[in-house]
Amino acid sequence: MSTELRVVRLSLCLLIFGFQGVAQQSGPIGYQDTPMLPGGKWHVHDSARPQPIEVTPGATCSQTTPDRPPSDAVVLFDGTNLSKWRTADGSEPAWIIKEGSAQIPPAETPNGGSIFTRESFGDCQLHIEWATPDPPVGDVMNRGNSGIFFQGLYELQVFESYHGGIYADGQAAAIYGQYPPLVNASRPPGRWQVFDVLFTAPRFEGEKLKAPGYMTVFHNGVAVHNHAAILGPTAHRSLPGHKAHGAEGPLMLQAHGNPVRFRNIWIRPLKDDP
Ligand code: MG
Repeated sequence: MSTELRVVRLSLCLLIFGFQGVAQQSGPIGYQDTPMLPGGKWHVHDSARPQPIEVTPGATCSQTTPDRPPSDAVVLFDGTNLSKWRTADGSEPAWIIKEGSAQIPPAETPNGGSIFTRESFGDCQLHIEWATPDPPVGDVMNRGNSGIFFQGLYELQVFESYHGGIYADGQAAAIYGQYPPLVNASRPPGRWQVFDVLFTAPRFEGEKLKAPGYMTVFHNGVAVHNHAAILGPTAHRSLPGHKAHGAEGPLMLQAHGNPVRFRNIWIRPLKDDP
């Protein structure tokens, strides 16, 4: 084979395999065989659902020193210990405390799974700061994956979503599988990010839903949910619907095998009639 022909063949191979590589990475990520969300427009994790527009956040979260909590806040993590938290079976969490943050340990670590607050909460204001690993860990479906579960059931997604990636309702600040954030206010991997959340717990009368739960969320100071009505517990590829539960439940931080860090976690329970 002549040198010229070899070059042509090589170029052709690169072109074909190169395009295949791009197609695999840039093809629609998500599903079309999942339940339909209310409104009849999108499936859960719909691959066709548009990605939220990117917004560059302002400097709402110091990259060095966390802001101080308000005087009446219940401080859930001040950077020193996880005494306010437990594992699913009530053990002391084995998350890694370093440089004022709590980091999710490797998946096989004993007592290294998801953690729950020892106290339970209903309506509340939550402040939490988090950072995904830099360089990113995990494939496009699991990059910097963690999550904040209100009452252990309703997930506000933590993910590495700088410039998007995963399906819209699975990226950072999504109410998982239900609502993408209104915009993508993500910071790059490794940077501290902040969620400020107003959570209203669902109300039940016996087994019947009286009022859904709601979330209003600011991501890095940018409004990403405006009183979004939660459609029941959040889940992967499904929409389980409401199931009655108590007025209060623990906050849960999800361990998903990704070394995501958290710091400066505080909560203010909100009473109807203080
Ligand atoms: Mg998650």
